[in-house]
Amino acid sequence: MFLITVVMSIANKALILIVDDQPSNVYALEHVLKADDREFVKAMNGEEALEITKTNEVDLILLDVQMPGINGFEVAQILKSDTRTSNIPIIFATAFSNEYKFVMKAYEEGAVDFLFKPLDPDILKAKVSVLLKLQMQKKELVEKNAELHKAALLIDNSADILGIIDAETLNIEGVNKAITSILGYPREELRGTSLQSYLNIESRSIVEELIISGQSELFFETGIYCKDKSVKWLQWKVTVKDGKWFFNARDITESKKAEDEIRLLNENLERKVELKTRELRMMNLDLEKRAAELQASNIELERFAFVASHDLQEPLRTVSGFLSLLSLETEGKLNKESDDYIRFALDGTQRMRDLIQALLEYSRVGSGELPLEKVNVNTVVENTVKLLAPLIQEKNAKLHCGPLPIVKGVEAQMQQLFLNLVSNAMKYQNGQTPQIEISCKEEQDNWLFCVKDNGIGFDPKYADRIFMIFQRLHDKSEYSGTGIGLSICKKIIERTGGKIWAVSEPGKGSIFYFTIPKTEQKT
Ligand code: ADP
Repeated sequence: MFLITVVMSIANKALILIVDDQPSNVYALEHVLKADDREFVKAMNGEEALEITKTNEVDLILLDVQMPGINGFEVAQILKSDTRTSNIPIIFATAFSNEYKFVMKAYEEGAVDFLFKPLDPDILKAKVSVLLKLQMQKKELVEKNAELHKAALLIDNSADILGIIDAETLNIEGVNKAITSILGYPREELRGTSLQSYLNIESRSIVEELIISGQSELFFETGIYCKDKSVKWLQWKVTVKDGKWFFNARDITESKKAEDEIRLLNENLERKVELKTRELRMMNLDLEKRAAELQASNIELERFAFVASHDLQEPLRTVSGFLSLLSLETEGKLNKESDDYIRFALDGTQRMRDLIQALLEYSRVGSGELPLEKVNVNTVVENTVKLLAPLIQEKNAKLHCGPLPIVKGVEAQMQQLFLNLVSNAMKYQNGQTPQIEISCKEEQDNWLFCVKDNGIGFDPKYADRIFMIFQRLHDKSEYSGTGIGLSICKKIIERTGGKIWAVSEPGKGSIFYFTIPKTEQKT
């Protein structure tokens, strides 16, 4: 059983192993060599010494040659045969002075030095110092080498190109392996050549400017030719120091391509948007032109309707006047059939007069001559009741009216609107007492009016048609009319910026709704 000694080597302290079977020798040696930067570990025989070197990083061994068991030379032999311990310097100590064969033997085993007993303390100290110093330097070198090795590995494994370039000539002094995988050049081929000879034209001038900029950190992008003549893009990060460029160049070809593609797509998109906008603008212009044309033709038509209906009144008056005279003249002189013909003709002229009147009113609404003004709808409805009083009385109609607002419109036209709606509500009845309700509700932007009756109603599929000129749903023999009233109402409401519509079902009465945009003045 060996006693295994493990000495925790304190940072930067040299560990000296003293091997001697005489404790007094060990003690003396330790005493002579003691120093702050040294640690000692001791062994009484060769086996123990070997065991200690397995578990400790020994920097120097003072080895007694003459020991029981394996002697000093044998220990040295074993240590030199193991790569882990082969470099530990050994100083042999022997009592046999100047014995040539021992000295030779010692050097054969790779010992570093040799001392004779009794040991001279000064020589001992000097030899130990020199050997330790050498050993510590060697250790440092080994460590540094290992670090360098690691750094070299890191550099070579880098996916980016790392290297050194002469800051003045731009000659490449060294690059890592990534240059081959990225650009395809063997490393040796580039060494000593100028970076400029690989760059594309625009990148060369960028780099030239950077050389003279005198900055210590450089960031830039270049296009660079690969071995196969294709171009790749590199993003450079350079530290300028001692006339050298220490660079890291990253391959950004893919992201550059993606960027270019996005830019192209964007340009295409912008072009398309521009084209579409131009198209839309043209369409708008076209629409505006058409709207203007339509308005002009509407005005033209209204003017025509006005002039035609106005001018038609004159011959119509002549026809009906002479027909009346004829009827008076021939009274009792003609047969019943002839009398009927004259009566039908007179009825026809009356109907034509009604139509012409309605047409005149219709064409007047859109003339735009009358400006919008404040109209109190309560007053309008009161007047409607007054104007329709004989009919209301005749039909015994019941009319209920809620509070109504002041709106912006043309009073005469508002009057016309209510006259048409209320008279229709009384007209389109089936013998029952007409019940009419007029009300108004305030909405966010509009006044919503409602004229409701309990009359015959109509099929909802005609709800739009009834607002068109000359459109009637009921036979004129049953319900007289021209088919213009509601189209006039529509025009009046649309002039104020509102809308009109109807909700109905046959036999269930009708509701006429219309909106008028609100103005600043409220009731
Ligand atoms: P007119 O009453 O002179 O025929 P309008 O333009 O006022 O013309 O109405 C168009 C058509 O709408 C009418 O012929 C009628 O068929 C229908 N109508 C209008 N008001 C009502 C109502 N209150 N109830 C049922 N039908 C109606």
